[in-house]
Order: sequence, then C-alpha cells, then structure tokens
Amino acid sequence: MDKIAFITGSSRGIGRAVACRLAREGYAVAIHYLRAEDCARSLLEQLLREGCRAAVVQADVADREAVTAAIRQAEAALGGPVSLLVNNAGIAEQHLFQDVTPAFWRRIFAVNVDGAYHTIQAVLPAMLHEKRGCIINTSSIWGQRGASCEAAYSATKAALIGLTRSLAMELAPSGIRVNCVAPGVIRTDMVEVLGADTLRSLAEETPVGRLGTPEDIANAVAFLADDRASFLTGQVLTADGGFIV
Ligand code: NAD
Repeated sequence: MDKIAFITGSSRGIGRAVACRLAREGYAVAIHYLRAEDCARSLLEQLLREGCRAAVVQADVADREAVTAAIRQAEAALGGPVSLLVNNAGIAEQHLFQDVTPAFWRRIFAVNVDGAYHTIQAVLPAMLHEKRGCIINTSSIWGQRGASCEAAYSATKAALIGLTRSLAMELAPSGIRVNCVAPGVIRTDMVEVLGADTLRSLAEETPVGRLGTPEDIANAVAFLADDRASFLTGQVLTADGGFIV
C-alpha cells in the first residue's frame, strides 16, 4: 500500500502544517479545503515545487456524498487508496450553554463528529482489504477536560475520543491503528477570536510558557503515523505544553 494521506481541512492552520509535514516525509497528500481554494492551491504549488506529491480536493465534511467523492477524487489523482486519514477539519464557537441554538448544536456535531464518521467509512473498505491503515482524529484538551462556554465543542471532541478508542479495538485485528491528538491552545485562526489579552494569559498559564504552533501538532501526528508507533492504538496524545497536566 502506497503512503497516501488525506488531511481534512488542510488549506490553513493545523491541517496545513500536517499536510506539509507528511508530504516532506514521503506521503502523497490530499489537501482538502472547504472554501479557501486559493490557500489550498498555493500549498499545492509549494509542495509540488519541493518535489512532493499532492492533489487538491474540495468538500464539506458534513456532506457524506461530497466528502466521499472528494476522497475518491484524491485517490484517483494520487494513484491509490488512502493509507493515512487525518480528521482535522473542525469548527468552534463560544456560547453560554443556554444560548446554544439547535441549529448550532446540529452543525458542530455534523462537522466535528459526522465528518469523521463519513471520512472513516469512506477509507475503511480499502484499509480492511489491505489489512493496513492509520486513522488520526483531532480532539482537544477541552474534549478531555471540558471548558466553560464550550460545552457543544467539548462534547464533539469527547465524542471523537470515544470513537477513537472503540474503533481502535474493533480495527486492530485488521491491522488498522486509530489514535487521536488532543491539542492545547494553538495559534491559528480558530483561537484569534479570543483576543490578544486572553491569548497572552493562556500562554502564561501554560507550563512551557508559550502557546502551541501548528507544527507542534504536525509533529504529534507524524509521530502517531510513523510505523515505529505500530504498538500505539486507541491513544489520545495530548500536545498542550503541560496545560492540563
Ligand atoms: P482553523 O479554523 O484554522 O482550521 C479549521 C479547518 O477546518 C479549516 O481549514 C476549515 O476550512 C476546515 N473546516 C471547517 N469546517 C469544515 C467543513 N464543514 N468541511 C470541511 N472543512 C472544514 O483551526 P485549527 O486550529 O487549524 O483547527 C484544526 C483542528 O484542530 C480542529 O478540529 C480544531 O477543533 C482542533 N483544535 C484546535 C485547537 C487550537 O487551539 N487551534 C485546539 C484543539 C483542537
């Protein structure tokens, strides 16, 4: 089985860093985007210039048919089935729980949880056939610990931990590993809404004395994806500079 990685939501932020890292480690990578076609295409050009193999596909992960079609399109472009799936795409919003609307509740579960359900089911038949594969979901320290005003987000991220552990047990006999990264506070568009003062105090609260970078999470993903991690499955790798220790 060729090394082919599909990284959801990889036009920016953590997903982009993961795509770069895996491409430089020899994976053919599918750069997947929702709206930012320009960003996805500039990453594609950068990786192709570096001699990496890559392709760009678009889909809303909440749309089962669209994301399944995007995976098939990526496999056709990259010349084989996905051997590494990184479920990175996600959304977050802060609300008091009593202000969470049914529409927002459904949307955040549709993207963060159903998205992973759709992509995993799309790549599984080939992985089961090959008796080999690696799936990495993206949870959060809020999924492990919970966070005020982030109940909906935290619930989706906790769901991914349950999904990861259960699938790890179900799929290990088929040679497929399923793990999860749980990032702490990482400097991306997602956390910029918190504002400079909050980000400064979060950095001060972090034992290593800084916020995380997308590359910190790419390192954790690359570690879990590596064959040297072949005895690791069902794990939640917290990468948070010691924030929730
Ligand atoms: P980001 O907002 O920069 O990136 C999110 C990506 O997901 C974007 O590329 C976006 O287009 C994509 N996306 C969102 N909805 C989508 C949809 N419906 N279909 C397809 N793609 C969609 O944020 P980020 O910080 O890079 O987040 C990446 C992942 O890491 C998310 O799952 C997030 O929950 C998780 N995470 C982030 C932090 C953090 O502090 N930044 C902490 C813990 C976990």
